[in-house]
Amino acid sequence: NNTLEITELTKTYPNGIQALNSVSLRLSNGMFGLLGPNGAGKSTLMKTLAGLQAADSGRIMFNGIDLAEHPDYIKKQLGFLPQDFGVYPKVSAYDLLMHLAVLKGLTNAQARKEQVLSLLDKVNLYAFRHKEVHTFSGGMRQRFGIAQALLGNPQLVIVDEPTAGLDPEERNRFNDFLAEIGEDIIVILSTHLVEDVKNLCTQMAIMNHGTVLAMGAPTDFLQAM
Ligand code: ADP
Ligand code: ADP
Repeated sequence: NNTLEITELTKTYPNGIQALNSVSLRLSNGMFGLLGPNGAGKSTLMKTLAGLQAADSGRIMFNGIDLAEHPDYIKKQLGFLPQDFGVYPKVSAYDLLMHLAVLKGLTNAQARKEQVLSLLDKVNLYAFRHKEVHTFSGGMRQRFGIAQALLGNPQLVIVDEPTAGLDPEERNRFNDFLAEIGEDIIVILSTHLVEDVKNLCTQMAIMNHGTVLAMGAPTDFLQAM
């Protein structure tokens, strides 16, 4: 079982906005929902966990190892599906994943190829492996995003508003898929959709104005919602 321990994480941006105000959370394997309105601080927390920006103070421990002292350890264990993946280069889905796999440190060419093909199969994009990602539909892009996030068998996967821009059918299919991968690792799902957290997550926290208001099982406090 994996454990992620976040202790009193605080972050103020140069413009004076305090995005995180002493955030503490304890997570183990399963899907964890991070729920909160726009501006609550969810993306800031995700980016800090992903090592993309530093907090001002506080501590992040993954499996007992301090992220500040061993940034390489957490980077190996982590998969990140950002809210906006940005612009896709004009290469095939297969070539792009192979390239990202190199960046992820998968140095053995044969193992890299096997993992990329197996991930493309897992996210139902194997038949489209020779197509360029920018030609994919929204649902396909999100599934591609999950494939890149799963490179290197991470033990912690962070997904930020993954179903934004998807139609209801795509959303359901994507959520089924998330539920499948979320059994043996920690998956953090950041969203403003109460529905998704209710349906998918075993644990959740509600954030607002940079503060964690409540944490528990969705059934503990979402009945009325
Ligand atoms: P959420 O993901 O819950 O919408 P964010 O973490 O994106 O919340 O934002 C939290 C607060 O920090 C918001 O008030 C937002 O405007 C502000 N913020 C986010 N990123 C930056 C930044 N790079 N510079 C300044 N303020 C920011
Ligand atoms: P999802 O399975 O995530 O709901 P979509 O609804 O976006 O995916 O697409 C449904 C199916 O339509 C895809 O799995 C694929 O078979 C096909 N498809 C959609 N867009 C494209 C495209 N740009 N090129 C080839 N096939 C596509």
